[in-house]
Amino acid sequence: MVKKILAGCLALLLISVVAVLLRTLTLSPEPAAVVEAFDVRVHQDQVIGRLSQAIQFKTVSQVLPAKDGNPPRTLVDAEVFSSFHGFLEQSFPAVHERLERIVLNEFSLLYRWQGSEPQKPPILLTAHQDVVPYSLPDLEAWEHPPFSGALEDGFVWGRGTLDDKSSMIAILEAVEGLLEQGWQPSRTVYLAFGHDEEVGGTGAAAIADYLHENSIRPELVLDEGGFVMRSMIPGVSQPVGLIGIAEKGYLSVELQTEGKVGHSSMPPPQTAASIISAAVVNLERHPPAKRLDGATLRLFETVSPHMSFGKRAVFANLWLFEPLVLSILESKESTNATIRSTQAVTMLNSGHKDNVLPATATAVVNYRLLPDDSVDDILEHIRNTINDERVAITVYPYHSEASQVSDTENALYQAMVGAGLGVFREQDMIMAPYLTIGATDARHYQEVTKNQYRFLPIPLDREDLSRIHGPNERIAVEDYLRMIRFYVTFLKSSDAVNSP
Ligand SMILES: [Zn+2]
Repeated sequence: MVKKILAGCLALLLISVVAVLLRTLTLSPEPAAVVEAFDVRVHQDQVIGRLSQAIQFKTVSQVLPAKDGNPPRTLVDAEVFSSFHGFLEQSFPAVHERLERIVLNEFSLLYRWQGSEPQKPPILLTAHQDVVPYSLPDLEAWEHPPFSGALEDGFVWGRGTLDDKSSMIAILEAVEGLLEQGWQPSRTVYLAFGHDEEVGGTGAAAIADYLHENSIRPELVLDEGGFVMRSMIPGVSQPVGLIGIAEKGYLSVELQTEGKVGHSSMPPPQTAASIISAAVVNLERHPPAKRLDGATLRLFETVSPHMSFGKRAVFANLWLFEPLVLSILESKESTNATIRSTQAVTMLNSGHKDNVLPATATAVVNYRLLPDDSVDDILEHIRNTINDERVAITVYPYHSEASQVSDTENALYQAMVGAGLGVFREQDMIMAPYLTIGATDARHYQEVTKNQYRFLPIPLDREDLSRIHGPNERIAVEDYLRMIRFYVTFLKSSDAVNSP
């Protein structure tokens, strides 16, 4: 009997090993057609000069906190935005002569480039005009001042070179160049440049509303989001162009309780402060569940064929190794954020004197939601986990559901992948879908398109990520020129795609 069981176990093990090996060996990269990179004739010094000038406009957007009973409001400098628009008109004369320009929410811009075949669905390229301010303590760390647009060491320096005025100006360069060449798209192309993405994106929301009201339904929206990351994904040596096919939702909740007031010499078993502490500890012990699905699963499906044998074996056999993969991804903050709705306790408040029982206690917890975890799901999780009627749970006014997950099978997506591979041909790049952790303007376009993608064709190393919203934001001249080439190539390759 024992012998039979042993033999059975051995056979099972052997079958598993064979299955693992077979799946690993037959795992091959998804086919992707490289698109030959197109170029427009550009005068390099002039192109770089225009980017440098654009960076020098302090198109900062900020939120002013609530004051005197007034809610928080966003603030931009009207004069700066007006003169920036004047600069655009001067710098891109063909765009402003041939495209229709619609101004929405005072400073957001929507351009319409009429296609020769109006029955074809349009596409929309978007970027934002605004940038975040620099922080004063960081100012010393900047090698070149944040709004200098300095051209030094082969880089253009300043706010917006990565996030993402560079993209806006590169799109305009691409269109200007194509117009000068006499090229006209068959499908209508929209260019959308919101003015307050960094503070919520009322501009992009207004543009999306305009499209909705006019029954304009782009077949694709391309926004910022992923970069071309070098040495970012474990086991993959090639650069990976990350295309965000979904983005996380946003929710903050306040937990609040009231306690018995009085002197602390005869305390009740729990004070308001300890009730809230217990609630917070409970939440941290039971974070929202982790899972490997959606955009994150698509990322690993795409990059795993390029991994070393051992790692490939693991990702090719998630039926066996999924728990292992999840625990590895969970162990790092950056990857943990891609497999679960995260929670962070960001504010705690209670008490004012060492020997007085606190009357109230509050905690604020910020959540970033995975697609398919709705705000209601998370609220239910919070209520069940805290399971204490003394704790009131209030939702902060600004919250948003995670985006839908855009599909990666359509021809326009393939045209975008092909354009990326074409312009990065010499670098043996992989293009892969992924989940964008931060918020972008793309989410506002969900009501008018089912295909929103988030990709900036700029190569970055892990260390470069701190330049975004941090000191020493910069872009290499050759990377900027390649970005223009990407938009030219994509405009042409997407135009050649026949829509369903
Ligand atoms: Zn941005």
